[in-house]
Amino acid sequence: MEALIRWRHPQRGMVAPSEFIPVAEETGLITPIGEWVLHGSCMQARNWQILGYPQLQVSVNCSAQQFRQEGLVDVVTRTLQQTGLPASSLELEITESVIVEHAEHVIARLKALDKIGVKLSIDDFGTGYSSLAYLKRFPIHELKIDQSFVRDIGSDPDDAAIVSAIVALARSLGLRVVAEGVETAEQLAFLKRLGCDWAQGYLFSRPLPAEEIEQLLHNGIPKAQLARA
Ligand code: MN
Repeated sequence: MEALIRWRHPQRGMVAPSEFIPVAEETGLITPIGEWVLHGSCMQARNWQILGYPQLQVSVNCSAQQFRQEGLVDVVTRTLQQTGLPASSLELEITESVIVEHAEHVIARLKALDKIGVKLSIDDFGTGYSSLAYLKRFPIHELKIDQSFVRDIGSDPDDAAIVSAIVALARSLGLRVVAEGVETAEQLAFLKRLGCDWAQGYLFSRPLPAEEIEQLLHNGIPKAQLARA
């Protein structure tokens, strides 16, 4: 599960994260929002584990600004303690820009998070600076292939080549590789042929509120939806 934020505004209705996250980053509100999201996500994931899905993991997106925060590791540690979620069930998603900054304190934070058992994932992989050196220097567990490469994977040989290269890179480095934005059974089949074992996207489910996810956990994803894969 990946935690995604939405803002249900009393007058404006649903406000997209692309509208309010940049403002939150500018104003510094991203820090308390990030902590609130982390806490809510860990609590929810723990509840689902207790309800009968002990293997469930949750991914939480982290902004560059959160990584600049001195107290980040303490916040994560405290949140895990308060919610009872095992560290190994939490994954933090960061973008390449966080790492490419590679200020010493960012590296120290990544290592400290790895030490407490939290997994680290590179989100939107392939769209940033893609300095590959960091993959061996930092404790990264997973690459998420950006959806822009996945979209036309079946029709654009360049996209297929890029995805194939990322999968090969991840596999030889022992990283999990996840395709983002999978919408069709054909895309999934193609990814499977390339050796990509993990995928997320509308093919499996659109983003759902927590109550509806419980239904999905209970019923599973309809086989017909995945049939052609
Ligand atoms: Mn993400």
